[in-house]
Amino acid sequence: MGKLPIRARVATTLGGAAGRMSRLAGRGDGSVIGGVIGLRVEPELLSLLAADRQIVLVTGTNGKTTTTRLISAALGALGQEVASNAFGANMEAGLAAALGQAPEAPYAVLEVDEKYLPAVLQATKARVVTLLNLSRDQMDRAAEIWLVARRWRDAFQQAPWCRVVANADDPLIAWAAMGAARVTWVAAGQRWHEDSWCCPQCGSHLRRDDMGWRCGECGFSRPAARWVLDGSRVIDSTGGMTELNLALPGRANRSNAVVALAVAEVFGIPAAAALQKMRSVTSVAGRYTQVQRQGRQVRLLLAKNPAGWLEAFDVLEPPPVPVLLAVNAQIPDGRDTSWLWDVDYRVVAGRQVFVAGERGLDLAVRLEADRVPFQLVDGIDDAVSRVRPGGTLDVIANYTAFQQIRTAVGRAA
Ligand SMILES: [Zn+2]
Repeated sequence: MGKLPIRARVATTLGGAAGRMSRLAGRGDGSVIGGVIGLRVEPELLSLLAADRQIVLVTGTNGKTTTTRLISAALGALGQEVASNAFGANMEAGLAAALGQAPEAPYAVLEVDEKYLPAVLQATKARVVTLLNLSRDQMDRAAEIWLVARRWRDAFQQAPWCRVVANADDPLIAWAAMGAARVTWVAAGQRWHEDSWCCPQCGSHLRRDDMGWRCGECGFSRPAARWVLDGSRVIDSTGGMTELNLALPGRANRSNAVVALAVAEVFGIPAAAALQKMRSVTSVAGRYTQVQRQGRQVRLLLAKNPAGWLEAFDVLEPPPVPVLLAVNAQIPDGRDTSWLWDVDYRVVAGRQVFVAGERGLDLAVRLEADRVPFQLVDGIDDAVSRVRPGGTLDVIANYTAFQQIRTAVGRAA
């Protein structure tokens, strides 16, 4: 911190004070307000705070927060402090706050909003950029993902120092990453194909088979991967196989973990050491949290978009464990709920299905169409009361519905 110019020191001090006051006033963890104040005093704050640190940026539509957490854990094997925006404040103010709160940390792992990646890459001169996947986040943003991929590709061409760790199974990610001078390819899988039927290079139809994807017209195809997710195992570059054995559930998290192993390798951390650290991660910003409620176990899963719903279905306990599905349509969720028709809900059949949320009726209509029996309930506690005492309830909710449920279960039962 001693090396920071005076203006940046004033900015971080003021920002830190604002963050503490925000926490005292009970307005969240205060990290964003601290960054906002700091940036107002010193617009170059992010690049000043990033100087002389080794920084990893993590972006993509789904899995950013979890992957950021897993990479932070893995870098812990280096034995030094790792700064991170662990609570997902992923625009410039949140990043400045995360770095300002850990002035001595030589490493930082930062989750970055997709649209901010080019600016943040230039400001932080990040050593590694991690690209997970790219799909529609909300219906009203559907057209943007191709533009985002192009901007990333251009940004990598302006950042020759940076190594990209990218998911080779996502065609749009692969195309964007090819703008980089050095890429580590990871076969991390892609459950959601609906946004990538067209070749990013020439627009023709993409063909898919067990080996991945390929364009019949221009020959653009899945790059050969150095790290491969194979069921519950990872296959490394030497052909060695290791069971992941994560504490976090589900295929999406195994895929995040394989990406994290590839990032750890860039820092010289052996897979065994990285995995040992990653296995200690049990919950990420309240997700996958298990709470007791009225004598039942409640497990919270977040699904922000169509691809996220598929990932959450993977994590469900098998029937007869019941599930509560909760849908809102506030601004952070996207106002339009027509995306419900892009998700196949038949996989939740065969168990008790409860439906809640401000747009629970939209979801009910959708389930009717899929012939999935369900019961409308009046929120989390109503659903819990219909589960047998001692039993388990899985909850899948979209963004603001998830926050509401977290707040409700955070209060005393
Ligand atoms: Zn093509």
